[in-house]
Amino acid sequence: MTGEAFRDSDGDIVVHEMIRTIRDNAGRLSEIDGAIGDGDHGINMNKGFSLCAERLDAKPGGFLQALRTLGDVLETEIGGAMGPLYGTLFAEMALAAAGEPRITADLFARMISRGTAAVMELGGAQVGDKTMVDVLVPAARELTRSVESGAGFKASLAVMAEAAAQGRESTRDIVARLGRASRLGERSRGVHDAGASSCALLLNAMARSMTALLLE
Ligand code: ADP
Ligand code: MG
Repeated sequence: MTGEAFRDSDGDIVVHEMIRTIRDNAGRLSEIDGAIGDGDHGINMNKGFSLCAERLDAKPGGFLQALRTLGDVLETEIGGAMGPLYGTLFAEMALAAAGEPRITADLFARMISRGTAAVMELGGAQVGDKTMVDVLVPAARELTRSVESGAGFKASLAVMAEAAAQGRESTRDIVARLGRASRLGERSRGVHDAGASSCALLLNAMARSMTALLLE
């Protein structure tokens, strides 16, 4: 079964890789947000993810517990539009797999799909509004399609990461219809969305670290 699942108890490194990715890209994410927002996205995200790192150091756990901790911290401690949205994403992902000792491709696809639906319900964003939803929806759809076609976990993670990158790219040429950037109207065209950028980075970090786990 090697390659088809990883143990929840091994998976905390996935969340640590997400934390590291946000730390390494915080400056760039704030810069992206600065073009059409208020320039705090990287700072907000890094604050939340660093706080999560402290909690995980104090109380280590597996993948699902780490995701729950991340969701909790973001939901309750981080301001801005993104705290509750990302908090909901990770909390719902963890809920979708509660109690599962092994993470399979099929389960992970259900986790991402449930998290995406919850973000859309909470924030009301649709594809094309220039938000993180422009990354989540194609990532969830392509991941699910790949898993259902029998492509296997690793190949499906690569498909998800590619769909996320393309989704992020798609936000460049559209006008923001939600959040702070929407106040700029036409002037929001021509730059990437900050939340879509962090989301693509995070999905890529998940794909990368899960692939490493699957190889072990
Ligand atoms: P703020 O806008 O409060 O400064 P951030 O800078 O942390 O918050 O996050 C901005 C990002 O939030 C945007 O780039 C966009 O992707 C995302 N966003 C804003 N509103 C929504 C929404 N209703 N649904 C989904 N994502 C949203
Ligand atoms: Mg901002």
